[in-house]
Amino acid sequence: MITKDKFYIAGAWTPPAGSASIEVHSPTDGALLARIPQGFAVDAQVAVAAAHKAFDAWAATPPMRRAELLKKIQEGLKARTDDIARTISLEMGMPYKLSQRIQVGSPTATFGMYARMLGEFAFEEQVGNSKILREPVGVVVAITPWNYPLHQIAAKVAAALAAGCTVVLKPSEVAPLNAFALAEIIHNAGVPAGVFNLVTGFGPEIGEALVAHPDVDMVSFTGSTNAGKRISQLAAGTVKRVALELGGKSAGIVLDDADFGVAVKSVVDNCYLNAGQTCTAQTRLLVPESRYKEAARIAAATAAKFRVGDPLQPETTLGPLASKMQQDRVRDYIAKGIADGAELLAGGAELPLDVPAGGYYVAPTVFGRVGPKATIAQDEIFGPVLSIITYRDEDDAVRIANDSIYGLSGGVWSATDAHAEAIARRLRTGQVEINGGPFNLYAPFGGYKQSGNGRELGRFGLEDFLEYKSLQLRPSLKGHFFQESQTA
Ligand code: NAD
Repeated sequence: MITKDKFYIAGAWTPPAGSASIEVHSPTDGALLARIPQGFAVDAQVAVAAAHKAFDAWAATPPMRRAELLKKIQEGLKARTDDIARTISLEMGMPYKLSQRIQVGSPTATFGMYARMLGEFAFEEQVGNSKILREPVGVVVAITPWNYPLHQIAAKVAAALAAGCTVVLKPSEVAPLNAFALAEIIHNAGVPAGVFNLVTGFGPEIGEALVAHPDVDMVSFTGSTNAGKRISQLAAGTVKRVALELGGKSAGIVLDDADFGVAVKSVVDNCYLNAGQTCTAQTRLLVPESRYKEAARIAAATAAKFRVGDPLQPETTLGPLASKMQQDRVRDYIAKGIADGAELLAGGAELPLDVPAGGYYVAPTVFGRVGPKATIAQDEIFGPVLSIITYRDEDDAVRIANDSIYGLSGGVWSATDAHAEAIARRLRTGQVEINGGPFNLYAPFGGYKQSGNGRELGRFGLEDFLEYKSLQLRPSLKGHFFQESQTA
């Protein structure tokens, strides 16, 4: 059993004000894995004070020095890939090999990306008689979930530190151990005291105290849409900037001219990545009505190939869900799908066979002939549950895909990229994969509609943490903007 009993504040491991702790359970078998401190408002005060104190000096640190430190964090993560991947597999259940590549590979690359970007990013530009400065927004609170825990932390922390912001991180209480490892790496990299701070606890307790704190300038949140709405309301009290990465209910559209063997299989694989606990998961498979049977057969056969089990066993391709709560929620949705009359093509609400006792497993499930308005077609389930929905023609496919409160991601499959792109342009969503085009850390990531506000990753993610300041310079005699526009 791992015990963490200190926060990382002002460059030192600091005991919380109280002695309450939170249990972290392993999704593999439900065993007690760790205890972490349960922080409250009083701990939020201490962490924000440290970040506030460190802000002026960090904001004034030359970008190339910030880049050196980010590079050191990248190297620190890389050196601990196996150990952190194992930790994440243990705390949230992703199969180990995938954890190495995604759960640690992606955050490592993100720190490297922002280190490089600082070498080329223009923090100043001239517009007419104005010098436009890009300055850090200030103290940032980062609140993150458990599904890609370190990736979501890195998307916020690396970009915020690159921008010159100081940070208080409150990771998910479900999968917090990776955040402690990151704090150790940041400390060893020599990041100045107070620039990065780590506290843990429950959202409604320490989370809300951080969000409402008057010395916090921005909240960057990833998680459920309900918590995002609550955070927006609280942050409005002091007009903080709020960036939100929330839920999704993305559609994978397979057009009539696509190779169904490849396309349907790819949408199922996409849906089941991380046991379906992916905000961009394509959980609605849209196929032409006339091709339903073929699509249903391929989807069911693909689902049947997944090996559900212990994430540390090499043959496992689908691990447990992250928590008992999540397992119960997903199985309730499966029961609801059956009760609402969808055709069960694979899986179901029963526990899969031959999995470790006490673990939070769910069978990979496919529903066919799901109505586009059905609960399982509208709600973000966050588990390995795919709904196949049929469409009459391409206009109908676009209408169904856009018929969602969310707009985070999606995919279009066709015989030609041009045909897929023409459909993708009509989708109200932040990302669309064209014939399975891969994730790109340099592209903006974020949602339309209730999937959120703002964009993470790449240059766009850095800009989210920057303010604009215009220095209005005295005009030279010829050609400053105001004079030109007056005489035009
Ligand atoms: P959540 O939104 O409750 O928690 C995410 C983070 O926010 C955690 O760190 C939590 O402590 C914190 N938090 C919760 N309420 C808060 C509040 N009022 N103020 C401040 N911080 C708060 O998400 P969850 O319980 O981990 O998962 C529930 C559902 O959210 C999932 O079933 C899924 O649908 C969705 N989800 C989405 C994503 C995503 O990436 N879009 C990630 C995880 C979960």
